[in-house]
Parts: sequence; C-alpha cells; structure tokens
Amino acid sequence: PETISVAELANRMATRVPDVIKALMKMGVMANMSQILDADTAELVIQEFGHRVRRVSESDVEIGIEGDLDEDLDRLPRAPVVTIMGHVDHGKTSLLDALRSTDVAAGEAGGITQHIGAYQVETPAGSRITFIDTPGHEAFTAMRARGASVTDVVILVVAADDGVMPQTIEAIRHAKAANAPIIVAINKMDKPGANPNRVRQELLQYEIVVEELGGETQDVEVSAIKRTGLDKLEEAILLQAEILDLRANPERAAEGTVVESRLDRGRGPVATVLVQKGTLAQGDIIVAGAEWGRVRAMLDDKNRPIKTAGPSSPVEVLGLSSVPGAGEPFVVVENENRAREISEFRQRRIKEKQAAGITAARGTLDQMLA
Ligand code: GDP
Ligand code: MG
Repeated sequence: PETISVAELANRMATRVPDVIKALMKMGVMANMSQILDADTAELVIQEFGHRVRRVSESDVEIGIEGDLDEDLDRLPRAPVVTIMGHVDHGKTSLLDALRSTDVAAGEAGGITQHIGAYQVETPAGSRITFIDTPGHEAFTAMRARGASVTDVVILVVAADDGVMPQTIEAIRHAKAANAPIIVAINKMDKPGANPNRVRQELLQYEIVVEELGGETQDVEVSAIKRTGLDKLEEAILLQAEILDLRANPERAAEGTVVESRLDRGRGPVATVLVQKGTLAQGDIIVAGAEWGRVRAMLDDKNRPIKTAGPSSPVEVLGLSSVPGAGEPFVVVENENRAREISEFRQRRIKEKQAAGITAARGTLDQMLA
C-alpha cells in the first residue's frame, strides 16, 4: 500500500528532498520528489536518517517520526496507565469509583471530580496511577483498532460470586493481544457466596496462573462496595509498573492519544487526551487525528486549569478545530502550516480509504448481482 510522497517525507523529517532521493538511490530505489513510497520503503528511509518509526497500522507510517534516538537518554519514570475490564455487572464501574475515592489529591481540589474519561490517583505514599475511565471492551478495541496502545496494565475484574464469564474470557484475549500484563481483582468479596478460590481455579483454563497457584499473575481480593482491598490493588499495580520500568521523556514535544471527545456548547470541541510522551503546554499546536488546533486551555481531571501536562497525565484540551475520534493519536507540531499540512494529508487519506471502501462494497454487490 502506498503512503507518502518523497517530498512529504523529506518535509516531515525536516530534510532536503535531494537527500531523501540520494538515500533511496543507495537502497536501489530510483525516485523523484512526487513519487509515492510504500510504508516499508518509507520506514527504511526514516531509519536511515536516524529517526525511529512508529507504524500506526500495517500500511501506515504517517506519523512515523518519533524523534531522535538520544531521546532514550532522558527518560524518567512515569505513572502506569491502567484499564479495567471484565464481565458485565462484575463491578468495573464500582471499582473505578472506589479507586477514584482513594486519591489523596482529590481533597485538596475540594473533592470536585470531573468525568473526563481518565483520571489520576495519588496514593498516600505519593505514587501516581492513571486510570482510563472508559470501561468496556468497545473503547479498548476501538483504540487498538486505530493502533493506539494506551494501557500498561489491565485490571481484570471477576466477581467472586459469579466466576469467569464470557466477557471475562474476551477481556483476557484483549489484554493478551495488547501485550498488557493482567492483575486479577476478585471483586464482591463482601458477598456471602464469594468463592475466590473458584475464580483462581477457573482462570487456569485461560492460562492465567495466579501467584498463589505458583504462577506470576497478581491477584487481589477486593470489595468495590465496602472499599476493601483497594490499597492492596494499588500496591499490585505499582509493583507491576516497577517491573515494567515505565519511562518517558518529559522534555520533548508531546505525543499521546485521544481518550474521549465531545462538542461542548460553550467551549466547542473538547478532547480528553492522555499525554504519553513529552509535555503538553498551553499554546502548543496539536494535530489529533485529522483535526488540529492551538491548545487554548487545559483542565486536569479535577477540573483545575493547568499550563502543562507531563507523561501519563490525562487532560482536557480546548482549542481544536473539530472533534477527533477516541483512539486517535495526537502530536505537537512546530507551526500552524505543518499542522494544516498533516491534517489535510490525513483527511485526504480518510477520503481515499472511504472511496476504496465504496469500491470494495460495489465489488461485492457486483458479484452478488452476477
Ligand atoms: P459493571 O457492569 O462491571 O460496571 O458493574 P457495576 O459496577 O455497575 O456493578 C454491578 C452491580 O454489582 C451493581 O449493582 C453494584 O452495586 C454491584 N457491585 C459492584 N461491586 C460490588 C461489591 O464489591 N460488592 C457487592 N455486594 N456488590 C457490588
Ligand atoms: Mg459499568
């Protein structure tokens, strides 16, 4: 599949077109500036110039330039980003609410919490954990389908009185596909019929072996309603985060993912984004999906205005031209021209894909009529 022209690639890398053509020649590819390269070739060129590549999808390297390799030198520990999954009614929403109530920083903010699709908790010891507050596998699947990987750790909620159910199994599959380690939260321990050992046994069938049974998966007994075991669950998350050695460089232009977005009557397009790298600052120009804008204002998860947001921070961003989809990546770019250019490039690609979809659909219709 074709992705990017030589000229656009040069532009994106802030390199001269002839240098890109020369690099291509070295690889045995003769090209002019308007030639469209496939993703594999583009990837090779990007690496040749000392940049790192991120494949947004199988064929897509359109935001492929991840900064210089020396970025690794400045990486500092960052908070883990956690998603809660599990069978319906096993207590995902209740657990998210319960965990939110453990935030020691919430008191300072006057206890006003906002629903913005993600929130961060500060533990009594001063550690931070970011929770993606869009439980449900659909949000997770939508993000993964767009190539976004936001989750470091998956909390698998299983009700102790109900055990492993179809959506539990589905959640396990999602977590494994995303390569995210699982922590099992055995919920509803306050119920008379609670049988945590049965849950542990049932999970064996899906290759989840908890520590107690000699495996490596942490499990914690909790009650979202009675708010018990929450500190242990947070400890388990922080331990997992330590094992993963999660790091990011705060001193670079921000990059991340749109978690949620909506059109607000008074404020216009509002996007909740998760900053994954770098620091997002008020006044930055961002491209999110095919939309762009200058960050007019930012609010944290407690609805407080903030000027900057570092790695693993969830923030509400005001100032975009339109509403980007959940799961779309965002990047900070150096100026409005660049933002417009990337936005137009992506809009063109969306149209192309739609057109291709229509052609494909017509193809099958033709076949059906034949
Ligand atoms: P979700 O569908 O996974 O988001 O589940 P909810 O959080 O909506 O919970 C489903 C039901 O289980 C609600 O009636 C909750 O009050 C109840 N529930 C959740 N957690 C607990 C718990 O720890 N103990 C008890 N007894 N009930 C719970
Ligand atoms: Mg729910």
